[in-house]
Amino acid sequence: MVAVPLVLARRPVEVPEDAPAGTGPLVDTHGRVHRDLRVSLTDRCSLRCTYCMPEQGNEWLARTSILTLDEIERVARVAAAAGITTFRLTGGEPLLRADIVDVVRRLAAISGPDGPVELAMTTNGIRLAELLPALADAGLRRLNISIDTLRRDRFRELTRRDRLPDVLDGIAAAAASRLRPLKLNTVAMRGVNDDELVELVDFAVGHGAELRFIEQMPLDAGHTWSRDAMVTRAGILDALAARWRLVPLPGRGGAPAERFVLDGVVLPSGQPAAVGVIASVTAPFCGACDRLRLTADGQLRNCLFSTMEYDLLPALRQAQGPGQEGAVLDAEIERMLRACVRGKLPGHAIDDPSFLQPTRGMNAIGG
Ligand code: SAM
Ligand code: SF4
Repeated sequence: MVAVPLVLARRPVEVPEDAPAGTGPLVDTHGRVHRDLRVSLTDRCSLRCTYCMPEQGNEWLARTSILTLDEIERVARVAAAAGITTFRLTGGEPLLRADIVDVVRRLAAISGPDGPVELAMTTNGIRLAELLPALADAGLRRLNISIDTLRRDRFRELTRRDRLPDVLDGIAAAAASRLRPLKLNTVAMRGVNDDELVELVDFAVGHGAELRFIEQMPLDAGHTWSRDAMVTRAGILDALAARWRLVPLPGRGGAPAERFVLDGVVLPSGQPAAVGVIASVTAPFCGACDRLRLTADGQLRNCLFSTMEYDLLPALRQAQGPGQEGAVLDAEIERMLRACVRGKLPGHAIDDPSFLQPTRGMNAIGG
Protein backbone atom coordinates (compact mmCIF):
# COMPACT_ATOMS: atom_id res chain seq x y z
CA MET A 1 0.00 0.00 0.00
CA VAL A 2 1.38 3.41 -0.97
CA ALA A 3 0.81 6.23 1.50
CA VAL A 4 0.04 9.51 -0.25
CA PRO A 5 1.98 12.43 1.28
CA LEU A 6 -0.52 15.13 2.08
CA VAL A 7 0.09 18.78 2.79
CA LEU A 8 -1.51 19.70 6.10
CA ALA A 9 -3.22 22.91 6.96
CA ARG A 10 -5.08 24.88 9.60
CA ARG A 11 -6.08 28.53 9.30
CA PRO A 12 -7.73 30.38 12.18
CA VAL A 13 -10.20 32.87 10.70
CA GLU A 14 -10.22 36.48 11.90
CA VAL A 15 -13.84 37.60 11.98
CA PRO A 16 -13.99 41.43 11.70
CA GLU A 17 -15.77 43.08 14.62
CA ASP A 18 -18.22 44.75 12.27
CA ALA A 19 -19.15 41.45 10.52
CA PRO A 20 -22.94 41.41 10.12
CA ALA A 21 -24.69 39.45 12.87
CA GLY A 22 -27.75 38.46 10.83
CA THR A 23 -30.93 36.79 11.97
CA GLY A 24 -33.08 33.83 10.96
CA PRO A 25 -31.89 30.34 10.00
CA LEU A 26 -28.21 29.54 9.46
CA VAL A 27 -28.20 29.73 5.64
CA ASP A 28 -24.87 29.77 3.80
CA THR A 29 -24.03 31.56 0.55
CA HIS A 30 -25.01 28.41 -1.40
CA GLY A 31 -28.50 28.28 0.13
CA ARG A 32 -27.86 25.38 2.52
CA VAL A 33 -29.74 25.67 5.83
CA HIS A 34 -27.72 24.34 8.79
CA ARG A 35 -29.60 22.34 11.38
CA ASP A 36 -27.07 19.84 12.74
CA LEU A 37 -24.19 20.58 15.14
CA ARG A 38 -21.61 17.87 15.89
CA VAL A 39 -20.18 18.54 19.34
CA SER A 40 -16.82 16.93 20.05
CA LEU A 41 -16.36 16.43 23.80
CA THR A 42 -12.74 15.27 23.85
CA ASP A 43 -9.93 14.23 21.51
CA ARG A 44 -8.96 11.33 23.85
CA CYS A 45 -9.97 7.80 23.06
CA SER A 46 -9.97 4.28 24.47
CA LEU A 47 -9.00 2.90 21.02
CA ARG A 48 -6.38 3.79 18.40
CA CYS A 49 -8.13 2.97 15.12
CA THR A 50 -5.51 3.05 12.38
CA TYR A 51 -7.62 5.27 10.10
CA CYS A 52 -8.11 7.87 12.84
CA MET A 53 -5.17 8.06 15.27
CA PRO A 54 -1.49 7.16 15.26
CA GLU A 55 -0.40 4.45 17.68
CA GLN A 56 1.94 6.81 19.49
CA GLY A 57 3.04 10.42 19.34
CA ASN A 58 -0.41 11.92 18.91
CA GLU A 59 -0.48 15.63 19.69
CA TRP A 60 -3.26 16.03 22.27
CA LEU A 61 -5.28 19.18 22.76
CA ALA A 62 -4.18 21.08 25.87
CA ARG A 63 -6.42 20.10 28.77
CA THR A 64 -6.88 23.76 29.69
CA SER A 65 -8.37 24.45 26.27
CA ILE A 66 -11.09 21.77 26.54
CA LEU A 67 -14.52 23.39 26.85
CA THR A 68 -16.25 23.02 30.18
CA LEU A 69 -19.82 21.81 30.41
CA ASP A 70 -21.02 25.40 31.02
CA GLU A 71 -19.15 26.59 27.91
CA ILE A 72 -20.55 23.79 25.73
CA GLU A 73 -24.06 24.48 26.97
CA ARG A 74 -23.67 28.18 26.27
CA VAL A 75 -22.63 27.58 22.64
CA ALA A 76 -25.36 24.96 22.22
CA ARG A 77 -28.08 27.33 23.48
CA VAL A 78 -27.00 30.05 21.04
CA ALA A 79 -26.85 27.50 18.19
CA ALA A 80 -30.32 26.16 19.01
CA ALA A 81 -31.76 29.68 19.11
CA ALA A 82 -30.25 30.24 15.63
CA GLY A 83 -31.95 27.14 14.21
CA ILE A 84 -29.81 24.09 15.07
CA THR A 85 -32.24 21.23 15.83
CA THR A 86 -29.89 18.26 16.35
CA PHE A 87 -26.77 17.91 18.45
CA ARG A 88 -24.59 14.85 17.96
CA LEU A 89 -22.02 14.21 20.70
CA THR A 90 -18.79 12.74 19.43
CA GLY A 91 -15.02 12.89 19.86
CA GLY A 92 -12.55 11.22 20.39
CA GLU A 93 -14.60 8.96 22.56
CA PRO A 94 -17.46 10.93 24.18
CA LEU A 95 -18.00 8.30 26.90
CA LEU A 96 -14.50 9.05 28.27
CA ARG A 97 -15.74 12.39 29.49
CA ALA A 98 -16.32 12.16 33.25
CA ASP A 99 -19.35 14.49 33.11
CA ILE A 100 -20.95 12.79 30.09
CA VAL A 101 -24.32 12.17 31.76
CA ASP A 102 -24.52 15.83 32.81
CA VAL A 103 -23.55 16.92 29.29
CA VAL A 104 -26.43 14.85 27.91
CA ARG A 105 -28.88 16.13 30.53
CA ARG A 106 -28.02 19.79 29.99
CA LEU A 107 -27.99 19.67 26.17
CA ALA A 108 -31.15 17.54 25.95
CA ALA A 109 -33.00 20.22 27.93
CA ILE A 110 -32.33 22.90 25.28
CA SER A 111 -35.12 24.11 22.99
CA GLY A 112 -35.00 26.21 19.84
CA PRO A 113 -37.73 28.01 17.90
CA ASP A 114 -39.08 24.64 16.66
CA GLY A 115 -39.13 22.93 20.07
CA PRO A 116 -36.69 20.68 21.97
CA VAL A 117 -33.48 19.66 20.21
CA GLU A 118 -32.75 16.04 19.40
CA LEU A 119 -29.66 14.61 21.05
CA ALA A 120 -27.63 11.80 19.43
CA MET A 121 -24.21 10.29 20.10
CA THR A 122 -21.52 8.47 18.11
CA THR A 123 -19.45 6.15 20.29
CA ASN A 124 -17.10 3.21 20.05
CA GLY A 125 -19.38 1.42 22.53
CA ILE A 126 -16.81 0.95 25.30
CA ARG A 127 -18.46 1.81 28.67
CA LEU A 128 -21.85 2.01 26.94
CA ALA A 129 -23.31 -1.03 28.69
CA GLU A 130 -22.59 0.62 32.05
CA LEU A 131 -23.70 4.14 31.10
CA LEU A 132 -26.67 3.57 28.81
CA PRO A 133 -29.49 3.61 31.41
CA ALA A 134 -28.26 6.94 32.83
CA LEU A 135 -27.72 8.41 29.34
CA ALA A 136 -31.22 7.40 28.22
CA ASP A 137 -32.75 8.85 31.41
CA ALA A 138 -30.80 12.06 30.85
CA GLY A 139 -32.39 12.50 27.40
CA LEU A 140 -30.15 10.78 24.83
CA ARG A 141 -32.38 9.80 21.88
CA ARG A 142 -30.19 8.13 19.24
CA LEU A 143 -26.96 6.16 19.07
CA ASN A 144 -24.43 5.29 16.38
CA ILE A 145 -21.91 2.68 17.50
CA SER A 146 -18.76 2.02 15.50
CA ILE A 147 -17.68 -1.54 14.78
CA ASP A 148 -15.42 -2.50 11.87
CA THR A 149 -14.97 -6.21 12.48
CA LEU A 150 -16.47 -9.05 14.50
CA ARG A 151 -13.15 -10.91 14.79
CA ARG A 152 -11.22 -10.33 17.95
CA ASP A 153 -7.72 -10.64 16.48
CA ARG A 154 -8.63 -8.29 13.64
CA PHE A 155 -10.21 -5.82 16.05
CA ARG A 156 -7.06 -5.82 18.15
CA GLU A 157 -4.90 -5.15 15.11
CA LEU A 158 -7.17 -2.45 13.71
CA THR A 159 -7.80 -0.55 16.97
CA ARG A 160 -4.53 -1.53 18.71
CA ARG A 161 -6.61 -2.49 21.75
CA ASP A 162 -8.17 -5.86 22.73
CA ARG A 163 -11.63 -4.43 23.52
CA LEU A 164 -14.04 -6.18 21.15
CA PRO A 165 -15.96 -7.86 24.03
CA ASP A 166 -16.63 -4.42 25.59
CA VAL A 167 -17.90 -3.07 22.27
CA LEU A 168 -20.18 -6.09 21.80
CA ASP A 169 -21.56 -5.57 25.32
CA GLY A 170 -22.29 -1.96 24.44
CA ILE A 171 -24.11 -2.95 21.24
CA ALA A 172 -26.13 -5.59 23.12
CA ALA A 173 -27.16 -2.96 25.70
CA ALA A 174 -28.18 -0.55 22.94
CA ALA A 175 -30.18 -3.29 21.17
CA ALA A 176 -32.04 -3.99 24.43
CA SER A 177 -32.75 -0.28 25.02
CA ARG A 178 -35.53 1.89 23.62
CA LEU A 179 -33.14 4.16 21.68
CA ARG A 180 -34.12 3.94 18.03
CA PRO A 181 -33.15 4.10 15.24
CA LEU A 182 -29.93 2.32 16.23
CA LYS A 183 -27.06 2.55 13.75
CA LEU A 184 -23.74 0.75 13.51
CA ASN A 185 -20.85 2.44 11.63
CA THR A 186 -18.23 0.48 9.70
CA VAL A 187 -15.29 1.94 7.80
CA ALA A 188 -14.73 -0.45 4.90
CA MET A 189 -11.04 -1.15 4.20
CA ARG A 190 -9.40 -3.19 1.49
CA GLY A 191 -7.63 -6.27 2.82
CA VAL A 192 -8.76 -5.48 6.38
CA ASN A 193 -12.51 -6.11 6.64
CA ASP A 194 -13.80 -6.17 3.07
CA ASP A 195 -14.52 -9.90 3.40
CA GLU A 196 -16.84 -9.21 6.38
CA LEU A 197 -19.30 -6.71 4.94
CA VAL A 198 -22.22 -9.15 4.58
CA GLU A 199 -21.51 -10.66 8.01
CA LEU A 200 -21.56 -7.19 9.59
CA VAL A 201 -24.93 -6.42 8.00
CA ASP A 202 -26.35 -9.72 9.34
CA PHE A 203 -24.99 -8.81 12.78
CA ALA A 204 -26.63 -5.37 12.64
CA VAL A 205 -29.99 -6.77 11.49
CA GLY A 206 -29.91 -9.31 14.35
CA HIS A 207 -29.47 -6.40 16.77
CA GLY A 208 -32.30 -4.32 15.30
CA ALA A 209 -29.78 -1.87 13.85
CA GLU A 210 -28.94 -0.34 10.48
CA LEU A 211 -25.38 -0.78 9.29
CA ARG A 212 -23.78 2.24 7.67
CA PHE A 213 -20.63 1.72 5.66
CA ILE A 214 -18.29 4.72 5.53
CA GLU A 215 -15.68 5.27 2.83
CA GLN A 216 -12.32 5.84 4.48
CA MET A 217 -11.42 9.53 4.35
CA PRO A 218 -8.05 11.35 4.51
CA LEU A 219 -8.56 12.41 8.13
CA ASP A 220 -6.19 10.14 10.02
CA ALA A 221 -3.91 11.88 12.48
CA GLY A 222 -1.12 9.57 11.29
CA HIS A 223 -1.60 10.95 7.73
CA THR A 224 -1.33 7.56 6.04
CA TRP A 225 -4.56 7.65 4.00
CA SER A 226 -4.25 5.97 0.65
CA ARG A 227 -6.85 5.78 -2.09
CA ASP A 228 -5.70 2.21 -2.83
CA ALA A 229 -6.81 1.06 0.64
CA MET A 230 -10.34 2.41 0.30
CA VAL A 231 -13.33 0.28 -0.48
CA THR A 232 -15.49 2.58 -2.60
CA ARG A 233 -19.28 2.93 -2.59
CA ALA A 234 -19.35 0.83 -5.77
CA GLY A 235 -17.27 -1.92 -4.12
CA ILE A 236 -19.52 -1.93 -1.02
CA LEU A 237 -22.71 -2.13 -3.08
CA ASP A 238 -21.26 -4.94 -5.25
CA ALA A 239 -20.41 -6.98 -2.15
CA LEU A 240 -23.91 -6.53 -0.70
CA ALA A 241 -25.69 -7.12 -4.01
CA ALA A 242 -24.12 -10.59 -4.15
CA ARG A 243 -26.38 -11.50 -1.19
CA TRP A 244 -29.41 -9.14 -1.28
CA ARG A 245 -31.47 -7.14 -3.72
CA LEU A 246 -30.93 -3.52 -2.67
CA VAL A 247 -33.88 -1.17 -3.12
CA PRO A 248 -32.87 2.53 -2.99
CA LEU A 249 -34.80 4.55 -0.39
CA PRO A 250 -35.89 8.04 -1.52
CA GLY A 251 -35.99 11.16 0.69
CA ARG A 252 -32.35 11.43 1.70
CA GLY A 253 -32.47 15.20 2.34
CA GLY A 254 -29.28 16.43 4.02
CA ALA A 255 -28.41 12.97 5.41
CA PRO A 256 -24.88 11.74 4.61
CA ALA A 257 -25.99 8.14 4.04
CA GLU A 258 -27.52 6.84 0.85
CA ARG A 259 -29.93 4.16 2.12
CA PHE A 260 -31.18 0.91 0.65
CA VAL A 261 -33.82 -1.55 1.87
CA LEU A 262 -32.57 -5.15 2.00
CA ASP A 263 -35.37 -6.75 0.04
CA GLY A 264 -37.20 -9.37 2.12
CA VAL A 265 -35.16 -8.82 5.32
CA VAL A 266 -36.88 -7.66 8.52
CA LEU A 267 -35.56 -6.44 11.86
CA PRO A 268 -36.63 -8.21 15.10
CA SER A 269 -39.21 -5.37 15.46
CA GLY A 270 -40.80 -6.41 12.15
CA GLN A 271 -39.62 -3.23 10.37
CA PRO A 272 -37.91 -3.63 6.96
CA ALA A 273 -34.12 -3.81 7.32
CA ALA A 274 -31.97 -1.19 5.58
CA VAL A 275 -28.30 -0.44 5.01
CA GLY A 276 -26.57 2.89 4.39
CA VAL A 277 -23.46 3.97 2.51
CA ILE A 278 -21.63 7.21 3.30
CA ALA A 279 -19.52 7.86 0.22
CA SER A 280 -17.78 11.12 1.13
CA VAL A 281 -14.90 10.44 -1.25
CA THR A 282 -16.41 8.94 -4.41
CA ALA A 283 -19.94 10.42 -4.23
CA PRO A 284 -19.79 13.55 -2.03
CA PHE A 285 -23.08 14.92 -0.70
CA CYS A 286 -21.80 18.46 -0.03
CA GLY A 287 -24.66 20.07 -1.98
CA ALA A 288 -27.13 19.09 0.77
CA CYS A 289 -24.82 19.35 3.78
CA ASP A 290 -26.51 20.87 6.84
CA ARG A 291 -23.75 20.23 9.40
CA LEU A 292 -21.44 22.36 11.51
CA ARG A 293 -18.87 21.17 14.03
CA LEU A 294 -17.64 22.37 17.42
CA THR A 295 -14.30 20.89 18.46
CA ALA A 296 -13.51 20.01 22.07
CA ASP A 297 -11.26 23.10 22.23
CA GLY A 298 -13.91 25.52 21.06
CA GLN A 299 -13.25 25.82 17.33
CA LEU A 300 -16.22 26.08 15.00
CA ARG A 301 -15.76 24.27 11.69
CA ASN A 302 -18.07 24.29 8.70
CA CYS A 303 -16.74 21.08 7.10
CA LEU A 304 -14.83 17.96 8.17
CA PHE A 305 -12.24 18.83 5.56
CA SER A 306 -12.06 22.56 6.16
CA THR A 307 -8.69 24.06 6.94
CA MET A 308 -10.38 27.08 8.54
CA GLU A 309 -11.51 27.37 12.14
CA TYR A 310 -13.53 30.00 14.01
CA ASP A 311 -12.16 30.24 17.54
CA LEU A 312 -14.80 30.68 20.26
CA LEU A 313 -12.40 30.26 23.19
CA PRO A 314 -11.35 33.92 23.55
CA ALA A 315 -14.99 35.03 23.64
CA LEU A 316 -15.99 32.25 26.03
CA ARG A 317 -13.13 33.02 28.41
CA GLN A 318 -12.77 36.75 28.25
CA ALA A 319 -13.15 38.47 31.63
CA GLN A 320 -16.71 39.71 31.85
CA GLY A 321 -17.64 43.09 33.28
CA PRO A 322 -20.83 43.68 35.27
CA GLY A 323 -24.15 44.26 33.51
CA GLN A 324 -24.98 42.77 30.11
CA GLU A 325 -22.11 40.22 30.00
CA GLY A 326 -24.31 37.19 29.20
CA ALA A 327 -26.11 38.87 26.32
CA VAL A 328 -22.85 40.33 24.93
CA LEU A 329 -21.16 36.95 25.03
CA ASP A 330 -24.09 35.21 23.33
CA ALA A 331 -24.13 37.86 20.61
CA GLU A 332 -20.42 37.27 19.98
CA ILE A 333 -20.92 33.50 19.76
CA GLU A 334 -23.77 34.01 17.30
CA ARG A 335 -21.64 36.39 15.20
CA MET A 336 -18.90 33.72 14.97
CA LEU A 337 -21.46 31.03 14.17
CA ARG A 338 -22.92 33.03 11.32
CA ALA A 339 -19.47 33.94 10.00
CA CYS A 340 -18.57 30.24 10.03
CA VAL A 341 -21.72 29.40 8.03
CA ARG A 342 -21.07 32.24 5.57
CA GLY A 343 -17.51 31.00 5.03
CA LYS A 344 -18.57 27.49 3.99
CA LEU A 345 -17.29 26.38 0.59
CA PRO A 346 -19.52 24.54 -1.90
CA GLY A 347 -17.60 21.27 -1.50
CA HIS A 348 -14.56 19.57 -0.01
CA ALA A 349 -12.56 18.88 -3.20
CA ILE A 350 -10.79 15.74 -1.93
CA ASP A 351 -10.33 14.83 -5.59
CA ASP A 352 -8.70 18.15 -6.46
CA PRO A 353 -4.87 18.06 -6.71
CA SER A 354 -4.79 21.19 -4.51
CA PHE A 355 -6.61 19.39 -1.65
CA LEU A 356 -5.00 20.01 1.74
CA GLN A 357 -5.65 17.54 4.55
CA PRO A 358 -6.72 19.32 7.75
CA THR A 359 -4.04 19.33 10.43
CA ARG A 360 -6.39 17.76 12.95
CA GLY A 361 -7.09 14.07 12.83
CA MET A 362 -10.67 12.82 12.96
CA ASN A 363 -10.40 12.29 16.74
CA ALA A 364 -9.72 16.01 17.24
CA ILE A 365 -12.34 17.24 14.75
CA GLY A 366 -15.24 15.05 15.81
CA GLY A 367 -16.63 12.58 13.29
N1 SAM B 1 -14.99 7.35 19.02
C1 SAM B 1 -16.29 7.38 18.48
C2 SAM B 1 -16.48 6.32 17.43
O1 SAM B 1 -15.49 5.76 16.96
O2 SAM B 1 -17.63 6.06 17.07
C3 SAM B 1 -16.72 8.72 17.93
C4 SAM B 1 -15.69 9.49 17.17
S1 SAM B 1 -15.20 8.75 15.63
C5 SAM B 1 -14.08 9.96 15.02
C6 SAM B 1 -16.67 8.95 14.66
C7 SAM B 1 -16.76 8.11 13.41
O3 SAM B 1 -15.76 8.52 12.51
C8 SAM B 1 -16.57 6.62 13.64
O4 SAM B 1 -17.65 5.90 13.11
C9 SAM B 1 -15.30 6.31 12.89
O5 SAM B 1 -15.32 5.01 12.33
C10 SAM B 1 -15.30 7.38 11.82
N2 SAM B 1 -13.97 7.68 11.28
C11 SAM B 1 -12.84 7.98 11.96
N3 SAM B 1 -11.82 8.21 11.12
C12 SAM B 1 -12.30 8.03 9.87
C13 SAM B 1 -11.73 8.13 8.56
N4 SAM B 1 -10.45 8.44 8.37
N5 SAM B 1 -12.54 7.88 7.50
C14 SAM B 1 -13.84 7.57 7.68
N6 SAM B 1 -14.44 7.49 8.87
C15 SAM B 1 -13.68 7.70 9.96
FE1 SF4 C 1 -11.28 6.45 18.81
FE2 SF4 C 1 -13.45 6.67 17.32
FE3 SF4 C 1 -11.03 7.44 16.39
FE4 SF4 C 1 -11.50 4.86 16.75
S1 SF4 C 1 -12.57 6.22 15.31
S2 SF4 C 1 -9.64 5.98 17.41
S3 SF4 C 1 -12.82 4.86 18.48
S4 SF4 C 1 -12.15 8.38 18.01
